Amino acid sequence: LYGRMMQMPLLISSLLTHAARHAGDTEIVSRRVEGYMHRSSWAEVARRSRRLAQALQRLGCAAGDRVATLAWNTDRHLEIYYATSGSQLVCHTINPRLFPQQIAWIANDAGDTVLCFDLNLLPLVEQLAPQLPGVRHFILMSDRAHMPAQSGVPGLLCYEELLAAEDGRYEWPVFDEQCASSLCYSSGTTGNPKGALYSHRSTVLHAYAAALPDAMACSASDVALPAVPMFHVNAWGLPYLAALVGCKLVLPGCGLDGASLYELFESEKVTFSAGVPTLWLGLMEHVRGQRLEFSTFRRTVIGGSACAPALMRMLEEYGVHVIHAWGMTEMSPLGTLARLQPKHAALSPAERHRLLEKQGKPIYGVDIEVVNDAHEVLPWDGEHAGHLVARGPWVIEHYWNEEASPLIDVMGEGAWFPTGDVATMDADGFMQITDRSKDVVKSGGEWISSIELEGIAMAHPAVKEAAVIAATHPVWDERPLLLVVLKAGAGVSREELLSFYKGRVAHWQTPDDVVFVDELPHTATGKLSKLTLRGKYKDWLIR
Ligand code: ADP
Repeated sequence: LYGRMMQMPLLISSLLTHAARHAGDTEIVSRRVEGYMHRSSWAEVARRSRRLAQALQRLGCAAGDRVATLAWNTDRHLEIYYATSGSQLVCHTINPRLFPQQIAWIANDAGDTVLCFDLNLLPLVEQLAPQLPGVRHFILMSDRAHMPAQSGVPGLLCYEELLAAEDGRYEWPVFDEQCASSLCYSSGTTGNPKGALYSHRSTVLHAYAAALPDAMACSASDVALPAVPMFHVNAWGLPYLAALVGCKLVLPGCGLDGASLYELFESEKVTFSAGVPTLWLGLMEHVRGQRLEFSTFRRTVIGGSACAPALMRMLEEYGVHVIHAWGMTEMSPLGTLARLQPKHAALSPAERHRLLEKQGKPIYGVDIEVVNDAHEVLPWDGEHAGHLVARGPWVIEHYWNEEASPLIDVMGEGAWFPTGDVATMDADGFMQITDRSKDVVKSGGEWISSIELEGIAMAHPAVKEAAVIAATHPVWDERPLLLVVLKAGAGVSREELLSFYKGRVAHWQTPDDVVFVDELPHTATGKLSKLTLRGKYKDWLIR
């Protein structure tokens, strides 16, 4: 027996249509790459997206074709999101901070036929173009006035001219919600990057769940600023859920330094944001240094790597509630968020903090378990650390272009995605990431959490940023090595830092040594690059 309800597929275009009809005059403010602020609205984004969809069709794009972007967070990038997915093309965002060879490899693996890019990335695209035989059209996301007189990019097209040539009389097509909508590559910390190919259904469901009160809690009254780039797992879904709730969006362009972000937070009255920890370190350094305050900013999601408790407390002191979240490219990305339940009301502030510092509980749509090497489920006791597996309608089943499924069998049920993270689950189902399998420190057979050791170092008043890696050791195989960047003008000795661990972790978990560095290497998504650090400092203890 079937229910007798309307058959309306969950399509990304429906998010935009909803926003344009019911929050049409709500603003989309964008710091364009050309250097000026541009004010638009959901209605305007919808109008221009329809024109862009027409233009892409005129260029010969057909259902399923991949349209790549190398672009920052701007209104034009938002239009590309909706124009491509809405017209059954696949929006393939690529991280411009990757090495050019990696970008070319990814674009060729994806089979991209169109590449849209921002003005300040023209030199990069000139370098890339000869390596992209499959790309038929290059679109510079700017107007005629900013087009170069000459360029090394063959047949360079102008975004605004393409739009101006269309009339916008375009109906979003209706098709199967399981069709591909967008493509993101994981950063490929081991081997080549792999593509996660999202569907309309997975994207819309993810946006619904992400907006819920115990997730990002977004509403029409919010002013959301995605500080996480639109090329990093679709800015964690914010471009979709902002349309779903019909809130104002502030798109910061390529200026993600503390001063530029702070200025936008204040001038546009931002209430909500999301980004990786490094970004907030930069913003808070500026805010503290200049003795500033936030007048409207109240809530932020931090994820992508572990948010150190010290950073969380610092933001709280400035009136910003931190929602710690865990996810990954393969999961669209949201998996868990740290949110309290009624029974936690009686906890002391310190106990509450400890819970909120974890990566939290799954939102509906995601389920997780922690398993041992034999894929047996480990107890939820907050102690047993094991491999974190996940499943749900917005978790990948296959990678793009790969036959073999990455899924593993757990409890005879099959179909769990091995995340590559190491975690514990407590009795209430709060998950805590202790490491990535490849970053874990294995000392005499025991796992030591590098994330925990980093969090402790970050709590020292002299420390700006910390990384812990596994260094080779003649007796214990591996021992933790601490690398730190000190705050400007601050000083602390090796001994002082190491004694800071006393009483905070078991004695045998204390790092063996400290290396003071001027800066730590980060990946293209702003995470600590432990791979680089291991390459350089792996043999530090056996020098
Ligand atoms: P990559 O870092 O490879 O580009 P993702 O952005 O998808 O890919 O990163 C996913 C990984 O980031 C997770 O598997 C996990 O290791 C790490 N991660 C994400 N959020 C958190 C968090 N809140 N705490 C600790 N690690 C996190």
